Amino acid sequence: MPDASMCAYCQEESRLCESDTGTAPPFCPMLRFGDSLQESATEYDREDVLRISRMASIQEGEGYGEPAKVGRRPRPVKTRVEEIRELALKLECGRVGVAFCTGLRREAALCCRALEAVSLEVVSVSCKVGRRPKEVLGLQDDQKIRPGRFEAMCNPIGQAEVLNAENSELNVVVGLCVGHDSLFFRYSRAPVTVLVAKDRVTGHNPAAALYNLPGYYSSLLDVGGD
Ligand code: SF4
Repeated sequence: MPDASMCAYCQEESRLCESDTGTAPPFCPMLRFGDSLQESATEYDREDVLRISRMASIQEGEGYGEPAKVGRRPRPVKTRVEEIRELALKLECGRVGVAFCTGLRREAALCCRALEAVSLEVVSVSCKVGRRPKEVLGLQDDQKIRPGRFEAMCNPIGQAEVLNAENSELNVVVGLCVGHDSLFFRYSRAPVTVLVAKDRVTGHNPAAALYNLPGYYSSLLDVGGD
């Protein structure tokens, strides 16, 4: 077994992280990094962090509607679009930024309209902002989506800088590519949440591949990949 935290494989019936009478496997990060966890908890004392964390947790609870009656399971009632705009209102955001993939322009415009419908001010920026050719990244022509043509590179750093300059207070990602989103997260000054995680094959529902791992997508579990 690797010397690493592996919560995803935890099989404890009652988990230590959820109950003070719970148990933990040897790879539990609470056993491996107890001191670091205690130290990092002080970050929540920062006013800005506490505000986001508190409001996000309140939003989480409201996502289940009325508190569940004893003996009943909670039932979710809110879409992610509703949750994001409600969180933005709770945080009293002056401006919300939308960073989108040009392939999801239509969804981005709909996202903006849904945010504006509750009187949020919205600014938005496309991944192609700056119109820099992919060649500046060292790509060969045959590494483009459509060789032989000009293709603007995705510019997540530019998107972050535009939204930073627009003073957005919460940024929403609509379909940025894998990896480009990583750079956007790194360079965005405002906290970021994701509305759409791009998956070109499943209609932007990446979990669909996971739900189908025991069936049509079982080849993804083959050791060594393709
Ligand atoms: S924190 Fe520990 S108890 Fe909780 S899921 Fe991870 S391994 Fe299991």
